[in-house]
Amino acid sequence: MTTESVKLPRNPEPKEWLASELSDQRIASYKPFNFVDGEGVRCSLYVSGCKFNCPGCYNKVAQNFHFGQPYTQELEDQIIADLGQSYVQGLTLLGGEPFLNTQVCLKLCRRVREEFGDTKDIWSWTGYTWDELKQESEDKRELLQLLDILVDGRFLQAKMDLTLQFRGSSNQRIINVPASLATGDVVLWDKLIK
Ligand code: SF4
Repeated sequence: MTTESVKLPRNPEPKEWLASELSDQRIASYKPFNFVDGEGVRCSLYVSGCKFNCPGCYNKVAQNFHFGQPYTQELEDQIIADLGQSYVQGLTLLGGEPFLNTQVCLKLCRRVREEFGDTKDIWSWTGYTWDELKQESEDKRELLQLLDILVDGRFLQAKMDLTLQFRGSSNQRIINVPASLATGDVVLWDKLIK
């Protein structure tokens, strides 16, 4: 009898992976005015680099920290201009892993808050779970505090469900970040249908 090994994503220790050591501050893609990366019309920034190595990753090429183009001031200005359109609801961060590219994501999110306050929302996907992020490095915890919505957790093929809103496997959650930080417990997005 043979035992088939099930491939799983990697599980880092707290603070094992740091953006300061890993990120090359590169961008895999920027997609303005899309309807798929969260609620409403969104401008999505796909950062380069992720170490979770989930089997079945939707964007494997962006796991490489050296993939894509450098993040530039010009791109940031373009993102801010795009977000300024009245029909745009907000910014979405994906990857790659936004929390391993905090130099880029913190700079951009701080500017979004400076320019737009809370009139634009910020969503981010991450391979980290909410509980893991609470034990993580200061830069990751600061980025979390700038978000409205976090879609958390690795993509698990064994839990894949293509009917879910905005996520690929049922372990992942759409989390209301301010409410969760205020209560200390995970509060799910109030528009969750499935
Ligand atoms: S966390 Fe996301 S980007 Fe990273 S390997 Fe998993 S599915 Fe891919």
